[in-house]
Amino acid sequence: MYKIAVVVGGTNTACALFKENKIVKKTERRTEVASEEKLIEFIVKLIEEMKGERKIKKIGIGIPGPLDWKKGIVLNPPNIPVRNFPLKRFLEKKFGVKVTIENDANCSALGIVKKKGVKDFVLLTLGTGVGGAIVVNGKLYRGMGNAGELGHITIEASGYKCTCGNRGCLEEYVSARGFERLAKKYLGKKLSPREIMELALKGNKKAKKIYEEVGRYLGIGLATISNILNPEIIFLTGKISLASSLLLRPAIKEMKKRVLVTPPKISVVKNMELYGAV
Ligand SMILES: [Zn+2]
Repeated sequence: MYKIAVVVGGTNTACALFKENKIVKKTERRTEVASEEKLIEFIVKLIEEMKGERKIKKIGIGIPGPLDWKKGIVLNPPNIPVRNFPLKRFLEKKFGVKVTIENDANCSALGIVKKKGVKDFVLLTLGTGVGGAIVVNGKLYRGMGNAGELGHITIEASGYKCTCGNRGCLEEYVSARGFERLAKKYLGKKLSPREIMELALKGNKKAKKIYEEVGRYLGIGLATISNILNPEIIFLTGKISLASSLLLRPAIKEMKKRVLVTPPKISVVKNMELYGAV
């Protein structure tokens, strides 16, 4: 029997077909963000294409939070145009199978529990936005429902305005937007984290400086998380974390400078979210 996982990101969406617990088919598309209607249509089409004539027993969706995960309602994610949409009920009606909905960072965290067997950790996803998840004894720590929105801890009291409405959130400094802003400041044009990485690897001093500045802010966030939870390990995932050494060196240096407790190990992982979604 088959299962389908869809993980919607602010920029790209991944979809996989599982047989038993193995991925047998996988695709990645640019997320349709023109409107709520278009995005829902896009998700349905991806599932229909992946499903074909197969009989499936479950669909698992990963999507940026905050969510009402029990009812399966997408509340008001800053980076995609969905507002109070009952996605679980909608898809269950459409496909006639069980649907689960989980925040995308939680999917990555659950994927780590399944694939790596680690049971106590914190995870940060660095991409279009910054997501977070806290895992205690192999289970997500949920608080009243949405614990772990670590991208929205404040790191600059009067800093840049975040898409969540607050100022100075970690997300505003270490997401793709943070990189773009610094590229404009130091290089005079909007560049993506990847383009800045390529320049930095070629030895461009200004591009390296951008990574150092972003890394320093990431380190401030890591220190705060460590002081609260004192985890043994913090996993980083998402496109931005793949430039690991450029970003990690300044981040770990800053974290060690600020943290009061024993600093955690920082480890970069990828492609865990689809496993955690189903
Ligand atoms: Zn925010």
